[in-house]
Formats: sequence, structure tokens, C-alpha cells
Amino acid sequence: MRKIIAANFKANLTRASTEAYLKTLQSKLTPQDGVQVYIFPALSNLMSSPCGMITIGTQNAYPAYNGAFTGEIGLEILQELGITTIIIGHSERRNLLAETQEICAKKFAFFAQKGFEIFYCIGENLSVREKGLDAVEKFIHAQLEGIDTTYDKLILAYEPIWAIGTGVSASLEQISQTHQIIKNQAKAPLLYGGSVNPQNAKEILALDEVDGVLVGSAALTLENFYPIIQASPLISKPLTHKDRQ
Ligand code: PEP
Repeated sequence: MRKIIAANFKANLTRASTEAYLKTLQSKLTPQDGVQVYIFPALSNLMSSPCGMITIGTQNAYPAYNGAFTGEIGLEILQELGITTIIIGHSERRNLLAETQEICAKKFAFFAQKGFEIFYCIGENLSVREKGLDAVEKFIHAQLEGIDTTYDKLILAYEPIWAIGTGVSASLEQISQTHQIIKNQAKAPLLYGGSVNPQNAKEILALDEVDGVLVGSAALTLENFYPIIQASPLISKPLTHKDRQ
């Protein structure tokens, strides 16, 4: 299976810089690269996918066609752009925006029913991790409540909260152990996310239990993101000096 390399821009990059980023990335990728690349730009910068090698997805949407949902976007807007990929359950939405498991499950059911490819994020906080693997397993189990883990367009992302944006990734052993636990609960492709960078990507992507990575901070420049793509088994041309500007 091709490794999945996904970039979550969160509330970063302007429309102009997102377009320039995509243009450069598109010129670098070839079908022989052996990866499938997903970019999740800020909502204001959503656009149609530029080519078959890059899929544009949305970081969020409201589970409705359209309507009175201030600050949200709905299915109609996504359909106009041909967007059929969504992130659900990211820890920042769960924690900063108070998205409950019930809301995540409702979004999942809506977008699965519409045939979306769903990146569904799970992962424990530090206090749960410190209690040990049984506690981690229980926590993750609860985050899968109401989620159809047999959905064929489901991609899971294990993102321990304590590793997100901290610069400290989970260890290879922690990733491997936790991915095995999750793979016992669900057969979907499983990505790792949490301070993936050009230095650690190769070892993480080499793990059998890792089907790809979801990258935040290190995805904000191609100088960092492209080497992560290159860390996957097959890849072509290196970045030129001009691409880095
Ligand atoms: C994320 O928030 O999905 C993420 C993985 O962020 P970072 O790479 O910055 O840890």
C-alpha cells in the first residue's frame, strides 16, 4: 500500500502562500513516488485538488448541507470544490472547541453517508499516557465510540496530544505498541501524528504498523515537508534552491 503523507496547515498560511506551496509540490511529485499526499489548508484557502497526486481535504465542516451555522462550512461548499476528504476528531477541535465524542460521531456518520474519505484522529493526553497502556487503550476505545471502524474510506490517525506541536515525538516503541493496540480494534490504515519532522520521519514511516503520517508544524514549509515525503520508500527529485524560497 502507498504510504499516506498528510499536512494539516491549521490556521496557517495565506491563500497566496498555500497556492504557491501546492504549485511547487505538484511539480515535484510523480506517480512513481509511492505516496499519496493530502493537504488540509485553512478553511478560507480551500480549493479543488490540483492533481491526482495531491488531495485537498477540509480540516472541518458542519454535518449539514448548508444553513445557519455561523463560522462553519457545509457540504454544499465542499461539493462546489469537489472536496471529499475531511478530518474529524482532531484533538484541537476536541479540546479547544469542545467537540464531544457525540459531535465527532455525528459528523462521522454524516460525512460517511456522503461517501467522504475520513481522517479520524484519536490519541490520549499526558495524564492518561502516564497511567500506562491499559489506560491508553481504554481512552482510545472511548474515542471510537459511535464510529463505524469498518467504513472503507476511514483513515485513522493516532496523535498523542502530548506529542502534538511539542517537538517531542512519541518513541518508536510507543508508536509501535500503541498502533498494535489500535490495529486490534480497527483494520483501517493508521497514521501517526505528533512532532513528525524531517529527522524522525524515516524511522517512523519504516515501522510496519505505520501506514503514513499526519504532520502539523513541519508541514508549514516545503523545505521540511518535502523531505518527509521523501522519507517514504520511493521518491524522486530533490528540492532545488529556488523551491526553498
Ligand atoms: C497535528 O496537530 O495534527 C500535528 C501532528 O501537529 P505537529 O506535527 O505540529 O505535532
